[in-house]
Amino acid sequence: MQTNFTPEQLADPDTAHSETILRKCVHCGFCTATCPTYVTLGNELDSPRGRIYLIKDMLENGRPADKEIVTHVDRCLSCLACMTTCPSGVNYMHLVDHARVHIEKTYRRPLADRIVRSLVAAVLPHPARFRLALGAARVGRPFAGIFRKLPGLKPLAAMLDLAPRAVPAPSTLPGSGAHAARGQKRGRVALLTGCAQSVLDPAINEATVRLLTSLGVEVVLPKGEGCCGALVHHMGREEQALADARRNVDVWVAEIARGELDAIVITASGCGTTIKDYAHMLRLDPAYAEKARIVSGLAKDVTEYLAGLDLPAPATAPGLTVAYHSACSMQHGQKIVAQPKMLLKRAGFAVVEPREGHLCCGSAGTYNILQPEISAQLKARKVANIEATRADLIATGNIGCMTQIGSGTTMPIVHTVMLLDWAYGGPQPAGVPAARVLEAAE
Ligand code: SF4
Ligand code: SF4
Repeated sequence: MQTNFTPEQLADPDTAHSETILRKCVHCGFCTATCPTYVTLGNELDSPRGRIYLIKDMLENGRPADKEIVTHVDRCLSCLACMTTCPSGVNYMHLVDHARVHIEKTYRRPLADRIVRSLVAAVLPHPARFRLALGAARVGRPFAGIFRKLPGLKPLAAMLDLAPRAVPAPSTLPGSGAHAARGQKRGRVALLTGCAQSVLDPAINEATVRLLTSLGVEVVLPKGEGCCGALVHHMGREEQALADARRNVDVWVAEIARGELDAIVITASGCGTTIKDYAHMLRLDPAYAEKARIVSGLAKDVTEYLAGLDLPAPATAPGLTVAYHSACSMQHGQKIVAQPKMLLKRAGFAVVEPREGHLCCGSAGTYNILQPEISAQLKARKVANIEATRADLIATGNIGCMTQIGSGTTMPIVHTVMLLDWAYGGPQPAGVPAARVLEAAE
């Protein structure tokens, strides 16, 4: 694609990077066929190619964002299916990230929108606040119907709908410290305990520690780490996202100084995509560029790390069929496709893949709160495809997908690592059909 930026505009490194991305796009439109918002809405401006034109026009003309571009960029899920499809290697992720920062700096959103976004950014990344908010949701739930009828307050209704009826008890894991490897030690990793996941389903990190230590891997929970910054990054809140990234980089680099790390293990693929991008996000900060490069190089999804270990024969034969849902951040963001399925099969599960596996479930970080209508359509489509498999349960590697899909089906849904932990001697995950276990054991 031909571009017309001035030398002055290209002196800005973010604009220069976006220009190299734009030049790679050849307008072929292959990406439209796999874009969930184009498939749902049928509007070229809600396709990757349409958004690329809008972003190009905004950046080239150096103009503030307007309502039209904000509407179409806000509708983008950042699912990155377009990057998997694109034959020209267009890095849409960095382009839309840049556009979101530009929007945040130059566009004044309506008051209700600003309040909801500020609330989300102030609460979700902080586990203590998030836990309090989930408690408050019990009180607010009767008002969800009223909020749903008021256009600016629909996101509040979506938040109340998504909030679990019962909040799990806090994790039994200490907030920080080392968990020793059992048997012969063969590795040392840091585990990102994360933010929302640690509140919504603390059993995921507990299973990860149990499984890894049982396989001879020391697991460190470094003191001071926190949200990876993905939630605010996708809202264009650059400074907040970079502050989160710098804090985590400092914590992990200090941990590396105490003892070599084989990996920084992540159990939410949305976080993994962002941490693997820290090297890009902090590339212009001389104090952090090199440290961020090291951190991004060590970041691994838990299934990516486990696939590199020589796993023993499973201790349990579950005899269950699992519908594997590959989160967008897993398959498109990190290109981790084979490992989770391979690990589940090796652990004794039959694995089936739902139709249209490339399409987003509509969770996408805060998307199911901020764009509830499109999100609900995508959820219904995803759930129908998953239920058609007639599997016993669903496995996935991202808490956002677990919450989204779980709110639309009665099928049990668990994190992949919880099934692996169970197969290798851990407890049976809550909600997994017990009868099949007994059958398999007979
Ligand atoms: S990131 Fe997803 S929703 Fe956004 S343009 Fe690409 S395919 Fe469409
Ligand atoms: S597939 Fe790639 S090159 Fe083709 S229009 Fe989409 S982004 Fe551009």
